[in-house]
Amino acid sequence: KLSQRLQTVADFVPQGARLADIGTDHAYLPAALVLAGRIDFAVAGDVTPGPLQNATAEIERLHLSEQIQPRLADGLAAIQPTDQIDTVVIAGMGGTLIAKILTAGAAQLAGVKRLILQPNVGEARVRQWLMEHHYQLMAERIVAEDGHIYEILVADYTGVPFSYNARELRFGPFLLAAGGPIFRQKWQEELQREAAALEQMKAAKEPPLEKIAAFQAQLAQIKEVLA
Ligand code: SAM
Repeated sequence: KLSQRLQTVADFVPQGARLADIGTDHAYLPAALVLAGRIDFAVAGDVTPGPLQNATAEIERLHLSEQIQPRLADGLAAIQPTDQIDTVVIAGMGGTLIAKILTAGAAQLAGVKRLILQPNVGEARVRQWLMEHHYQLMAERIVAEDGHIYEILVADYTGVPFSYNARELRFGPFLLAAGGPIFRQKWQEELQREAAALEQMKAAKEPPLEKIAAFQAQLAQIKEVLA
């Protein structure tokens, strides 16, 4: 059984998708999707030998070698043209790394309709990438698990330019509209962290005035959203 975080990611994989799970570690996600009859082809990529071994062992244990191919590769280099991948998952990494992997793999993204991304931090960076590359957000989810709060971003390629404002980039257009207790908890915690950092800056012998102003603006934005 998948964690709630990975199950939420799985829920957005279309029926019959040809999936690449990048940074797969144990290949739990593609394995669960094949066992559920949702997909019958996946590439399970990881750049680190240990995690790739975890994936290979899990695939063999479940007798899924026909459906899931483990590949040792950096980012989207795991994808070959003949795979005809249409859906890419990148979960459990920082947003900056996710954006870097997507940028480096532009060639492999040709034909990829859906991206399902779960950054552990740096969600705004991921939304920025989606906006710049014309993948439009279709849904966003926020889940709490094991003391962490995770965001899941689902985007489809449209090829049509669009833009998110600063608030939407930071909080997520769908999450902003939906609100809810987990969203509020995340931003209340962030508010407290930033308020504490601000107090420290103000207490410095030579307070960094520009940085303080920037922090105050960030804080005001969170307060506005929580109001
Ligand atoms: N995707 C799984 C999940 O969400 O539960 C595993 C997440 S695990 C925390 C992150 C994995 O990403 C590690 O196995 C790591 O080796 C892999 N990774 C990091 N950078 C990568 C890259 N550039 N290309 C492929 N895999 C990468």
